[in-house]
Amino acid sequence: MSSYPNLLSPLRIAGVTLPNRMVMGAMHTRIETMDRPIERLAAFYATRAKGEIGLILTGGYSPVPEGVMDEGGLVLDSEDQLDEHKRITAAIAKAGGLIVLQILHAGRYAKVPTCVAPSSLKARINVFPPRELSTDEVWKTIAAFANTAALAERAGYAGVEIMGSEGYLITEFTAALTNHRNDEFGGDFEKRIRLPVEIVKAVRGRVGRDFMVIYRISSIDLMDGGMTGAEVAQLARCIEAAGADMINTGIGWHESGVPTMAAPVPRAAWIDAIRNVKQAVSIPVMASNRINTPEVAEAVIASGAADLVSMARPLLADPEFARKTRLGRIDEINTCIACNQACLDHIFTGQVATCLVNPRAGREIDFRVAAPAQSKRFAVVGGGPAGMAFAIEAATRGHRITLFEAGAELGGQLNMAKKVPGKNEFNEMLRHFRVALERAGVTVHLGTNVTADDLASRVRAGEFNEIVLATGVMPRQPDIKGLNHPKVVSYVDVLARGAPVGAKVAIIGAGGVGFDVAEYLVDSAEESLDAKVFMDAWGVDVTLRLAGGLKPAARHKPARSVHMFQRKNETLGKNLGKSTGWILKAKLRRANVAMTGGVSYDAVDDRGLHITVNGERRVIEADTVVLCAGQLPNRALHTELAERGVNAHLIGGADVAAELDAQRAIAQATRLGVSV
Ligand code: NAP
Ligand code: SF4
Repeated sequence: MSSYPNLLSPLRIAGVTLPNRMVMGAMHTRIETMDRPIERLAAFYATRAKGEIGLILTGGYSPVPEGVMDEGGLVLDSEDQLDEHKRITAAIAKAGGLIVLQILHAGRYAKVPTCVAPSSLKARINVFPPRELSTDEVWKTIAAFANTAALAERAGYAGVEIMGSEGYLITEFTAALTNHRNDEFGGDFEKRIRLPVEIVKAVRGRVGRDFMVIYRISSIDLMDGGMTGAEVAQLARCIEAAGADMINTGIGWHESGVPTMAAPVPRAAWIDAIRNVKQAVSIPVMASNRINTPEVAEAVIASGAADLVSMARPLLADPEFARKTRLGRIDEINTCIACNQACLDHIFTGQVATCLVNPRAGREIDFRVAAPAQSKRFAVVGGGPAGMAFAIEAATRGHRITLFEAGAELGGQLNMAKKVPGKNEFNEMLRHFRVALERAGVTVHLGTNVTADDLASRVRAGEFNEIVLATGVMPRQPDIKGLNHPKVVSYVDVLARGAPVGAKVAIIGAGGVGFDVAEYLVDSAEESLDAKVFMDAWGVDVTLRLAGGLKPAARHKPARSVHMFQRKNETLGKNLGKSTGWILKAKLRRANVAMTGGVSYDAVDDRGLHITVNGERRVIEADTVVLCAGQLPNRALHTELAERGVNAHLIGGADVAAELDAQRAIAQATRLGVSV
């Protein structure tokens, strides 16, 4: 019997039978802003359909122009648009999949000057204040949702999902916080939930019985003045009575002060809020957020908290998630590490979403891979993300690859990242690389320091046709007096070698690594692994009795006293990821980590770190000083090979160490791997 009996069982909803309980959740990708957008969208979804995902939910289409996510965003409001949608639905049907169109009115989150809301209250995450909808306009908006649903049915979609969570228009109506109206759509709870109920009724009235009507409910608002668990349950019952076939669950609003889906959130953390919805209704309920492996997904359904699981980012990371699950090839799944770096952070900075662990995501038509004209023998030096990604791609296409790694294990910088609290998902990335290398038939030599002489002579002997150097980076050693003091260590000593660190710590450098080291030293590891610890630390009321599911946060004594420094005279952590930097900064604030910018470093001695700030000399008492001053490319081998007349490709941190990150390294290596 399969290890995933619940996940792999079919489910009949409205007129369709889903082959399994795995759903690709809706994602805003901006693919529509690229060249050949329809071809790209069709390829993006069809690739997931071929990967056997049970159901695909599109990114949100607004029913009216003012409800778009941002300028030029997706709208479905007229017959003229149907041909483009039919090309997408036809591609999915051909691939054997089912696709549902999400209808999303962004309300006061719409980044357009014409944005509207129940009341004219500006969201802190939008520069545009919304205009209050008149009662007549609310009815017109309801009719517009129904019109979009009818168009979606004609375009060949299997259903619609009405987006009623994450703080968009519908949620703004249901919460007293954002709804100050006194017409039939505001006031007591029954009036505040009238909008979603009328939308579901209007949609149901315009589409056939076989067409799926899904409603995404805000199962926990995580906002002061949001719904209580009892109110969420009441709304769910009303949505069922209004004619919905299934309920999907959303967690929090985009402006909530609690992380809902980034890596510091434990897997399946929101199961209590989801179960509350499930227990209120008799139609199927879908779970979402931080469900990234078949084991977790199966456990969620087996526990009775939900009937299906929606996974958005995991399907960016691996379009074949469902097929590999069916075949029991679980260790081959390219697991989403919840970093948000290439998906959400791209969206928040006006770029097209892709995936750190899968650079093909959203770029499917750019990566059509052909076998090489001639199979070559490559030596790859360096077993970090760049070296491994290149080796896998090139070997899969038919080249013969030998990978040399000086260390005792593969992974390079990833082996440090995995030690940071909230980054334990990096273990999954390392597992995926190891399995993929093996399947691709790459020969791996660990603990092997190849020299330029050795490589050059093996090239001359014809043993290797080409060389790829992914030799990574080395920590930058700043020029500060006293750095040979025994209390000075580098981030590599701390994260990779477990160097002892005292109670009072000064960190030199406040880039991504400085922040990671600070978090490691104040020790908040449990928070990302234990849902109870997480909920207490962030002030989430899992009993769902309190409004918005919020309660006062618990305070913990930090493991150490940490002070971070940088020379730039600006706020520390300015360049951290848009969707995750605030989480890290909030955790460090809670742990009383001090941060000082605009410093110059004078010396390190027995007393600690001597600095000058605003012309004033200060001594920061410290038992340990940790250097996190960035990296330099490790290119010695490249230079030595060039001296011997041997050319080599240079990728990853060895190519560009500044702004080093795994996303760029993997993308660069993958592109080289599919082109050689
Ligand atoms: P980084 O981001 O380049 O930061 C280096 C830090 O060292 C800066 O604070 C810089 O600030 C300081 N610095 C540079 N030269 C110095 C010198 N000569 N003396 C003293 N201080 C100096 O490098 P990183 O922190 O090692 O991170 C590398 C990359 O890894 C990042 O760019 C990021 O892409 C990735 N990463 C990201 C995250 C994340 O976002 N959570 C986590 C880990 C790694 P001043 O010049 O102002 O002093
Ligand atoms: Fe997941 Fe990170 Fe990829 Fe986004 S970029 S899908 S969070 S692995």
